[in-house]
Amino acid sequence: SDVFVVAPVTEDMSTTLGTEFTLHQSCDMADPLRWLQRNGDRIRYVLTDGHLGLPNTYLAALPVLELISCNGVGYDAIDTDAAVRRGVMVTHTPHVLNEEVASTAVLLYLSCYRNWEAQMAQARTGRWETDGGLPLARSADGRTVGILGLGRIGMAIARKLEAFGCTIRYTARSRKDASYAFHVDLVDLAKSVDALICVVPGGTATRHMVNAEVIAALGPEGVLINVGRGSVVDETALAAALQEDRLGWAGLDVFEDEPRIPRALRTHPRTILTPHIGSATLETRAAMGQLAVENLMLHKRCGQVKTPVPECSPLL
Ligand code: NDP
Repeated sequence: SDVFVVAPVTEDMSTTLGTEFTLHQSCDMADPLRWLQRNGDRIRYVLTDGHLGLPNTYLAALPVLELISCNGVGYDAIDTDAAVRRGVMVTHTPHVLNEEVASTAVLLYLSCYRNWEAQMAQARTGRWETDGGLPLARSADGRTVGILGLGRIGMAIARKLEAFGCTIRYTARSRKDASYAFHVDLVDLAKSVDALICVVPGGTATRHMVNAEVIAALGPEGVLINVGRGSVVDETALAAALQEDRLGWAGLDVFEDEPRIPRALRTHPRTILTPHIGSATLETRAAMGQLAVENLMLHKRCGQVKTPVPECSPLL
């Protein structure tokens, strides 16, 4: 069987896949769409990631496609409605990255409160010796923290923050079986917490959920963390609030137009920014890769998959 590979794969993944599949890597192609228009009629499998997804022009050039395996848990870059309409299965990599992404969120949270980037620069540049210490930071311990999206990763964040003595509140589409306080309304949640951590999926339903009103509700001491998708936060409203001192800090791993980050956010002293590295460790990427490969293998051998996206569960 042939696999069209959209996103780069690790050596381990290509070795394992190579035993059962012929791989066609789009990064080796001058014009991947042209290649697909010529060869797409023999491609039953696609391997991609949550960032690159599968453009609809590619999907249209794949008449016998059976499975899109996404090496990532977020799959908003894949048109699942179009896939379901065609009976194409979509799989992703839930669970195996929960702890890593939660640790990334906690790192951003701690770095904001403790002014960590500036403190490190003070030591590294020698300014400690010439200018002395910086003003005192704020404590990250014992805060009330709101979680927008108490799903798999949101729960892992909540558990980690409990170790810092934090009180957790949350919102989601539905109330969870958890001891944390549930808020139906996001503005109401933002008003009642010191920091808000966003970890909802992207897509139209969550676009700009964190708008000027939510940011205003967090207030001038408030901390906003986003490890979900950049589209969830209105970056223009966020930059304005930081510039006018209407928000305390922002810690962001994801951005609206990656890899571009607005200059206002890049240059602001009260932002902590990372380049979408929520799950980016050798261990976690290996576990994700293995799951993405397992879904392909299982489907080829017996038409089953391990981790379908919820929209595709009925296809099983
Ligand atoms: P889950 O599906 O387990 O959790 C998602 C949560 O978001 C659920 O609580 C869900 O509520 C809530 N939610 C979804 N849609 C809405 C909505 N419209 N309004 C309010 N709440 C909503 O996903 P994961 O925890 O596994 O992953 C979450 C996201 O994190 C991924 O989709 C991805 O975008 C992002 N991510 C980012 C990474 C990074 O590198 N920065 C790495 C991995 C993931 P309910 O349960 O009630 O439906």
